Amino acid sequence: MNRAKITIVGAGHVGATCAHWAASKELGDIVLVDIIDGLPQGKALDLYEASPIEGFDACIRGATSYDDAEGSDVVVITSGVARKPGMSRDDLLATNVKIVSDVTRNIAQRCPAAVLVIVANPLDAMVYTAAKVSGFAGNRIVGQAGVLDVARYKAFIALEVGCSVEDVSALLLGGHGDDMVPLPRFTSVGGVPVTQLIPAGKLDEIVTRARNSGAEIVALLKTGSAYYAPSAATIAMVESIVRDKKRVLPCAAYCEKEYGVGGFFVGVPCILGTGGVERVIEVELDAKERDMLNTSVQHVKDLCGKVDALLG
Ligand code: NAD
Repeated sequence: MNRAKITIVGAGHVGATCAHWAASKELGDIVLVDIIDGLPQGKALDLYEASPIEGFDACIRGATSYDDAEGSDVVVITSGVARKPGMSRDDLLATNVKIVSDVTRNIAQRCPAAVLVIVANPLDAMVYTAAKVSGFAGNRIVGQAGVLDVARYKAFIALEVGCSVEDVSALLLGGHGDDMVPLPRFTSVGGVPVTQLIPAGKLDEIVTRARNSGAEIVALLKTGSAYYAPSAATIAMVESIVRDKKRVLPCAAYCEKEYGVGGFFVGVPCILGTGGVERVIEVELDAKERDMLNTSVQHVKDLCGKVDALLG
């Protein structure tokens, strides 16, 4: 069988946990790349040694050279510094633009046909950085934010209703975390509109908690940011790409005419398949939702202006 080749750059908390989820789902052969010699090799070997116990077949390798990534079908970019308590995602911009642009340059040379899945923060600006540096078509670059944000939102709704997380269906638009645009009109529990199950004030509290959930976890951990749910979200996207599942997932996707964005990556529902983003789904918004999305898009544009200045 021809297995997909998946490279994960950054073997830290998010990268290594992505490798774990990807291996356990047998999504393909995995290469973990990091600049710290020994770290990706050690984690890859450790994970490979779990395969006879868990019963998954995958070749898992660690490397410090991008040559090992050659010909990958999907490359996940998690390399970058994470937040510490009191920091916003935007505080990471200057450092992570340098890291993500260097990584993207190396990956684009060796994996010219890959789909890039960006995870490093500030997410929307890092997707733009990868697009600018790689020169890849917009559909082959996609950022992970919405799958995580919507998972947090769904998890808190399930807690409130006292139901299975599997029965909550929801949609969010816009940037990562603070900038997300909740759409209660499109949220349901087992087909029942959420507004019939949770009072408006409580739903607002849930939205706020989901929006700030990254910061809540940073404050608890004190030494870094969340990684289990972010990695699960990333691998849901990778799975849809390598298995051509064509799942509809909220991702940071390139929007030209869509939502009137005019050539930036913003969080929108899209269909993910072998080709990357195969279609952006446009949802008709009311005036309030449109205003919130415009604010979110403006924030993305401001950050991209700063990326342009940093890249020179
Ligand atoms: P981490 O510090 O545990 O891991 C980062 C890894 O990147 C380190 O091992 C480091 O050595 C490596 N690295 C740095 N520069 C590199 C380079 N040039 N080439 C290869 N590897 C390099 O951090 P983490 O918790 O894994 O978080 C990683 C990034 O993901 C952060 O920017 C964080 O903010 C972001 N993040 C995003 C989301 C999201 O939803 N999009 C969620 C969580 C974390």
